[in-house]
Amino acid sequence: MSGFPGGLVVVILLTAVAGSIWMIFDIVMALLFYSMALLLLVIYHLRYLTFLDRWLQIPDPSSATLPDGSGAWGDVFARLARLMRNQNQSHQQLSLALERLQRATSAMPEGVVILDETNRIEWCNPVAEQHFGIDFKRDASQQITFLVRQPQFAEYLSILNYSEPLIVKQTRRQELILSLQLVPYGDKQKLLISRDITRLEGVETMRRDFVANVSHELRTPLTVIGGFFETLSEENWISSEMGKRALVLMTDQTKRMQRLVEDLLTLSRLENTQNQVQEEPVNVAEVLHELYQEAQSLSAGRHHINFSLDTDVRLKGSLDELRSAFSNLVSNAIRYTPNGGEVDLSWKSQDGQGVFTVEDSGIGIDLEHIPRLVERFYRVDLSRSRGTGGTGLGLAIVKHVLNRHQAHLKIVSEPGKGSSFSAWFPKKRLIVQKNE
Ligand code: ADP
Repeated sequence: MSGFPGGLVVVILLTAVAGSIWMIFDIVMALLFYSMALLLLVIYHLRYLTFLDRWLQIPDPSSATLPDGSGAWGDVFARLARLMRNQNQSHQQLSLALERLQRATSAMPEGVVILDETNRIEWCNPVAEQHFGIDFKRDASQQITFLVRQPQFAEYLSILNYSEPLIVKQTRRQELILSLQLVPYGDKQKLLISRDITRLEGVETMRRDFVANVSHELRTPLTVIGGFFETLSEENWISSEMGKRALVLMTDQTKRMQRLVEDLLTLSRLENTQNQVQEEPVNVAEVLHELYQEAQSLSAGRHHINFSLDTDVRLKGSLDELRSAFSNLVSNAIRYTPNGGEVDLSWKSQDGQGVFTVEDSGIGIDLEHIPRLVERFYRVDLSRSRGTGGTGLGLAIVKHVLNRHQAHLKIVSEPGKGSSFSAWFPKKRLIVQKNE
């Protein structure tokens, strides 16, 4: 702005001089003088404009010195120089911050990949290069699904629910097991964090195999012992009262161990990720009828048992696994409901999901225990659980079966009033009948 009044003063001065010439000489002389003076003024400004234009055409103007200027142009060049200095400073600060950030992320033990909204790689650290067998220089802007080819990963990316990490076996490096976690941020960008859990998985596999092997080894001797005990009690070979009592006790304990071994084997089968869920149509109405019969035989007339079927939607999944999970819920309801109580079984569709519920008017559960019920061997009352033939593994089995079917368990309970256990199945697990 300071150049403008200077320019105005020059024009006013020239006009005044031209006016004086007009008065002293004549109008022609005055106009001649005025035109010449304006022409010189234009040439002066054009010269500096040319300097500025040349300077702006240099590929990196900030590296070349600005031309010197006088008057208004001096001001313009000085301001431009200041602006360039400030810009250079903030550029340097930004580069330093970026370098620090890159050094920090490179030192991280986790792999980090920045994905844009179309899941193309924007940046990744060296650990991610190792994990995914990629080279950032070569693979920048590539679709991440071209490089991480597991179908579960493509599905994980598309469901947009990244609350749980995904475990994948890296096929480019067979021995590597990765835990992948996506974190959405900014403008539809995503951070893909990879952790090498090969050793952890190795220990977990060892634990699973050990439990499965021990259970398997125990199965046969227990069957033999149980068989002998049964024969002994049937044939009435033991005559003393003490011997008879001991035989009953030994038979009960053997049965308990057999149940435990069976439950442990079921759990290790469910935990084995190689063991894929069978995808068959499951007629829940039929299963519900069977469970109703089972509940009646377990209850032996001690409870009022009802069932309601509000939909004929079928489930896509494994019949054996689902039947075992539902049967555990039914058996719990009977075992934890005093005589004369009610047990209701139902299958309905709600909010687009399939809901299987077992409700009882039994002893109920304190709120503090509810989050831990699905842990192995967690019991609210150990003697009650054992007394009714429990193994402490029933709800752990239920949780695993539901997880494998992308379903979740909802528990509502009040001590002294009763409990409700519902399994919620997502829409993709439902097969809607044509007449629905
Ligand atoms: P358990 O073999 O001991 O029944 P579960 O895993 O099936 O083992 O259940 C864990 C615990 O949850 C039980 O020991 C019991 O305390 C509680 N529980 C499960 N179902 C019910 C129910 N319907 N009513 C009251 N408590 C229950």
